[in-house]
Parts: sequence; C-alpha cells; structure tokens
Amino acid sequence: MVAVMSATGSGLVTMRDVFAARHRLRGRARRTPLEVSPRLSAHTGRAVSLKLECEQATGSFKLRGAVSALAALSDDARRRGVVAASTGNHGRALAHAAREAGAQAVVCISELVPQNKVDALRELGADVRIAGASQDDAQLEVDRLVAEQGLSEIPPFDHRGVIAGQGTIGLEIAEDEPGVDTVLVPLSGGGLAAGIGLAVATAAPGARVIGVSMERGAAMAASLRAGRPVDVIEQRSLADSLGGGIGNDNRFTLSMVQAFVADVVLVSEAEIAAAMRYAYREERRVLEGAAAVGIAALMSGRMSELGDRVVVVASGRNVDMDAFTRVVAHGWDGPGAHIE
Ligand SMILES: *Cc1c(COP(=O)(O)O)cnc(C)c1O
Repeated sequence: MVAVMSATGSGLVTMRDVFAARHRLRGRARRTPLEVSPRLSAHTGRAVSLKLECEQATGSFKLRGAVSALAALSDDARRRGVVAASTGNHGRALAHAAREAGAQAVVCISELVPQNKVDALRELGADVRIAGASQDDAQLEVDRLVAEQGLSEIPPFDHRGVIAGQGTIGLEIAEDEPGVDTVLVPLSGGGLAAGIGLAVATAAPGARVIGVSMERGAAMAASLRAGRPVDVIEQRSLADSLGGGIGNDNRFTLSMVQAFVADVVLVSEAEIAAAMRYAYREERRVLEGAAAVGIAALMSGRMSELGDRVVVVASGRNVDMDAFTRVVAHGWDGPGAHIE
C-alpha cells in the first residue's frame, strides 16, 4: 500500500481511496478504451497506446474526480449542494455529476467568461453565478457560499476524492496494458498525475509516470523546482486546460507529484499544434491542446529513457471547433489559430 503524507499532515490519499472511487464511479463514468496506436508505435519504435479519456462523458477525465468527490459527501452535504469556480472542464464535469446525483452545482465565474461557456454550463444544469471581474472575485463568491449557505466546495485538483477519482485511470491502464513501463500524463494542478501516479505505483510497479506541460506557464514544473507552490504568469496557450497555478495552500498534489512523477517534459505551442493535427489526421481524434501534450512529447524526440510499452493519456476533447479546424488546417501560427 502506497500512501503519501500531505505537506500539512492533514491526511493521506491512499489506494483505499482509489478503490472506493472505482466503486463509486461504476455506472456513473465510462471505463474508457485503451487503444494501440500503430502509427505512433511505428514512429517511436515502441508499443504506444492511447488512453482515450477524450471519450469520457462531458468530454474530459474531470468527470471521474467530480463523481468521486460528490459520491463521498454525506447525504446532508449533497442536499445542500456543491460549488466550484471553474469555467472549464471541471465546471462541466461537476455540473453533470451533480445533476446525475440529484444535487445542485453552483459554478461561480467572472463577468469576463464568454457567453457560450455560460450557456454550456447552464445546459448541464449548473446554477451559474456571475461575480466580479476576475477569477479571484469568483473564488470569493465560492468562499461566501461555503461559509453562509453550507455548500461544499469541490476544487478541480487538490482534493482527496478528486485525486482518487482520477486515480481510477491508473488502475485501468495497469489492467488493460500489462507490462506498461511508461505513462505520459498531461500535468497542470496535478490531480490527474497524482492519482494515476499513486495507482500505477501499486498496480504497475516499476512503470515511470511522466508529466507533460506546456512551456508557457507550467506552474507545477516551476513549483517542483522551487520545492513549494509558485505562481507563474498566465499566458495564452493551445493547452488552455493546463493554465493556472497549483494553489499557495496546496495540500496534496505537489507532494504526490514529487513522490510519483519521475520527470516533467515541457512542449512548445508548435509541438502541441502538430500533435493536434496528427491526432486528427492520423488517429481521427479530436483532442484539445491539453490532451495532445503527451503525443507532442513523444513526437518531439526529446524524451529520454522512454520505455518499450508506453501509454499516453489523451485527457479531453473540449475545444472550440472553429479554432480547432484552423489549427489542424494551418498549424499553430496559421491565421487565427490561437484558441481563447
Ligand atoms: C484539467 C485538465 C488537465 C490537467 O489536470 P490536472 O489535474 O489539473 O493536472 C489535463 N487535460 C485536460 C483536458 C484537463 O481538463
């Protein structure tokens, strides 16, 4: 049994949590396919498979963490409802998971969030509250709702139930690709890498988990170097789902990534765009930028110590399709290819 003490000593995330999450996810989140990629295998001279979390309901793996965290709440807490400040894949996942669980999800956003994202969240049943002009203002509204109305905050990564939910991906990888020796995982706040790292350490011991982030604003990579959470300047990236910091009061993911992630590779915008094009044209898959970073790392040829049986986690497919078609047609510096 592998366990990691969080920096503040406030608890452990253990394999027991991951198995509990697997039980809770049954019938509520998909067991996604793991598919061999003949072309990536030929390109690298290794056996390369893709773990297709882009096929997950709501379009990203975030559903696992949201379902797991919601199911772990007491009936009473679930009745009061849950809240988060995410506009992206976590907000979508939480809205969907809450609706399925018969609970209300409140998603707090700033007035800068574009209307199409607001509409998408409302369509999934979220109660969207617009609060202030920044992400910080939205978070203040979350804090207020937690304090005054007793809602439970479900954050996107630094949460025991969320990490355990993402860890179920690691169990499935170990089962579907026995002998896996390398797992490439997109890395931002680190919930995905922490959960997969924990599960792989037990279920596929010896396999190396490698985090992949974009060069532009890789907060976890900077925090690993500093040995504590550090803020980085947020920049526009094709991998928009990998933006943001790891939280100054990080409890779980930094120490877990330190323990379970062997290396971090950074990829450029051009490499991400090339990987999105590749996935679309050769694999017939729509991947958002964040989900293509593992393929980008493989194709870059800069991976040292790559094993013989490689699994690449393709984490999601939520991308603006107009911007996507420009990227796959023209590459990252084509006309209007940048994704907001
Ligand atoms: C959130 C997200 C990630 C990164 O997950 P973390 O747990 O924050 O490291 C990667 N890919 C996609 C598609 C995401 O939505």
